Amino acid sequence: MFEKIALVGIGLIGSSIALSVRQQGLARHIAISTRKAPTLAEAEALRLGDSYTLSAAEAVRDADLVVLCTPVGAYEAVMAEIAPALKRGAILSDVGSVKQYALDVIQPLLPEGVHFVPGHPLAGTEYSGPSAGFAALFRGRWCILTPGTDADAQAVRMLTGFWEALGSSVEVMDAPHHDLVLAITSHVPHLIAYNIVGTVDDLANDTKSEVIKFSASGFRDFTRIAASDPVMWRDVFLTNRDAVLEMLGRFLVDLDVLHAAVRDGDGPALEALFTRTRAIRRSIIDAGQETAAADFGRVGSPQDQARTGAE
Ligand code: NAP
Repeated sequence: MFEKIALVGIGLIGSSIALSVRQQGLARHIAISTRKAPTLAEAEALRLGDSYTLSAAEAVRDADLVVLCTPVGAYEAVMAEIAPALKRGAILSDVGSVKQYALDVIQPLLPEGVHFVPGHPLAGTEYSGPSAGFAALFRGRWCILTPGTDADAQAVRMLTGFWEALGSSVEVMDAPHHDLVLAITSHVPHLIAYNIVGTVDDLANDTKSEVIKFSASGFRDFTRIAASDPVMWRDVFLTNRDAVLEMLGRFLVDLDVLHAAVRDGDGPALEALFTRTRAIRRSIIDAGQETAAADFGRVGSPQDQARTGAE
């Protein structure tokens, strides 16, 4: 599909792209660059690419497809470095979790003849770094592309084909809509998880140890999300502020209603909401975005042991 793909940033997402590109045979050459020497050495030891460099400009030279896989907050500096080295006719994309900011920062620095098509794979885990990646990460997931109004149609088609070859379904939407949808489906849920885990951390020591001990009753699931990369998530809240504040406002109003229902012992209101939310989980499972296995199908969980007959 491409002669040369350059990945700038080689953490969870970059390394997963590299492994999947290799597996699917989508490029003759994968060039990898990152900021720190130990990260680059790790990528090389894992044989994620064909060439390795600490210079992003060197990596993108002659590349037909360049994908920025760094935290969003690094885009401005990375663009300043790579812009003069980008090949005419190349497609430039990214995987960042916030899309209007990506357009605002990258578009003005784009050299003539380079086609920018922002992207966001809706796939990830709470792990980071080159060794966190795996080829199947994007399989059966969505990838959202948010091309600007004057984007090159052929470049959008090529990038759509690329993500489909990685196993994703592609949806095209405008950047502000993406940022609003992701604010409520991803960004605010992360904020809630960071908040509740932070609250526990502030509790007195005795209570905290009980919370850790009995965490399987629900808290544990928040800790998985709250273990996500601090720099990546700092940048999400710095660059998607308006959409997050809008959705957070709605969330706080609804939380007030729930607060009142608990205070007033309003059983019917509580039961009505909990019935509605159960149906939402069902529809996520039906859409293939979650497993129906009990306890998220955790290996080693009591449910898993019951299924496999293990002791
Ligand atoms: P990650 O595992 O932490 O990897 C980030 C990579 O970027 C590392 O190679 C890091 O290299 C490099 N980097 C960090 N700061 C840099 C800077 N200032 N300049 C140049 N390189 C820098 O992160 P990730 O999870 O792959 O996320 C990468 C992007 O994907 C983010 O924009 C995020 O919003 C998006 N995304 C993440 C997920 C997810 O679930 N994790 C899902 C979808 C999209 P060094 O070690 O050399 O600094």
